[in-house]
Amino acid sequence: MTITERFLKYVAFDTQSDETTEVTPSTSKQMVFAQYLKTELEALGLEEISLDDNGYLFATLPANTTRNIPVIGFIAHMDTSPDMSGANVKPRIVSAYDGTDIPLCAEENIILSPRQFPELLDHKGEDLIVTDGHTLLGADDKAGIAEIISAIAYLKEHPEIEHGKIRIGFNPDEEIGLGAHKFDVEKFGCKWAYTMDGGEVGELEFENFNAAAAKVHVKGRNVHPGYAKNKMINSQLVAHEFISMLPANETPATTEGYEGFYHLIGMEGEVESSTLSYIIRDHDRQKFEARKAFMQECAAKLNEKYGNDTVCVELKDQYYNMRQQVEPLMHIIDIAFAAMQEAGVEPKVKAIRGGTDGAQLSFKGLPCPNIFAGGLNFHGRYEFVPIQSMEKAMNVIVKIAELTAKRY
Ligand SMILES: [Zn+2]
Repeated sequence: MTITERFLKYVAFDTQSDETTEVTPSTSKQMVFAQYLKTELEALGLEEISLDDNGYLFATLPANTTRNIPVIGFIAHMDTSPDMSGANVKPRIVSAYDGTDIPLCAEENIILSPRQFPELLDHKGEDLIVTDGHTLLGADDKAGIAEIISAIAYLKEHPEIEHGKIRIGFNPDEEIGLGAHKFDVEKFGCKWAYTMDGGEVGELEFENFNAAAAKVHVKGRNVHPGYAKNKMINSQLVAHEFISMLPANETPATTEGYEGFYHLIGMEGEVESSTLSYIIRDHDRQKFEARKAFMQECAAKLNEKYGNDTVCVELKDQYYNMRQQVEPLMHIIDIAFAAMQEAGVEPKVKAIRGGTDGAQLSFKGLPCPNIFAGGLNFHGRYEFVPIQSMEKAMNVIVKIAELTAKRY
C-alpha cells in the first residue's frame, strides 16, 4: 500500500470524538478504527501489538542491531474534531495543482481558493487531497497515522538502515484534550517520542503555552434603586472595573508569537453576583505566574474599595510549557532538525499558541515534541493535504530513526 492508499483508507472511517460522553474512547467508532489499524499492524509483522480498553493502540518495530540505542516512539491521534462531521468523507485528488480556485462542491459554490487560503500557492504543482465541501478531511491526524505506518513499512523493507527499537502509539480523543489522559507512558516504554500532528511542512514544535483558567466571583449588595445611594454595590459594575484593570493590549486579538494574554471567555451577572471566566496564557513560566498574581492584586484592590470578599479569584493551572521538560534533552530536537534537513525539508521551529498532547505527555515523563503532518485548514471543510507533504513527513520519520541510531 502507498501512503496515499493508506490515507484514503483511513479517512473512510468516521472517528469524530465527543466531549460530552465522559467515557474513553469518547465514541465507539474510534475503537472500530483502532481495531482495523491493529489488523494492519499485524499484517505488517510488527511485535508487542496491544489495544487497550480505552482505545490506545501500541506496537513495536524491533531493533535490527544489537547496539544499545534508546527506544523512541512516534505518536498520532485517531479522532477527528467535533467541530465538523467526519462521516462519509469523499476525498478527491487534485493532481498537479495549477494555483487556481478548486471547486469543492460546484452546486453549492463551495470553493477552496488561494484568495482566502494563500498557503495553497506554496503547493503549486503538487497533488492535493481535498474534501467535497461537506465534511472535514481528517488529515488531522490520519495523515500522521499514514506517515508513521508507511515509515515503519519502509524501514522493514530496508534492513540496511540500522535502527533501534521503535514504538508507535495511536491514541483517541486528542481533539477533546484527552489524548494523553490515559496514555500509559510506562507501557509505551520510550526515552522520548514525537507526535506527528503539526501542520505545514517543516513545523517543529517544542514550546507551548503555560495555561490556567480563572473564575472571578464578584458579590454585590442589592438595595431598592430609589434608596440605594452609598448602599448598593452592583456586582456587574465591579466586574466591569475588574475587566478594565487588566491590560487592554494583552488579549488574543492583540498578541502573537511569544506574547501572552488574558482572555475573557465568559461573563454572567446580575446586581447580587457576577462571574467572569478567563483563560491565562504565557510561554514564559515567570510571566505566567506574574499574570496570575496580578489578577489577585486587582481583586485585592477592589476589596479595599468595596469591602473584603467582594471579589474572589479562583485559579486553576491547566497545562505547562513542555520546553522545560525538553530542554534538558535538546538532542531530541537536534535529531529532528537534522532529519528534516537530510530529508530536504527546511525546519521551522515555532512556539505553539496553545497546548498539545505532547505537552501533557512530556509532563507524564515522555518528552514529546511535535512534527508536521502536512495537512492545512484543520477542523473544517477547507482542510487539505498535499501528498508530497505526507511523503516528506514519512521521510523525516525514517531519518529520525536512522540518525538516532547513528548518534549512539
Ligand atoms: Zn491533531
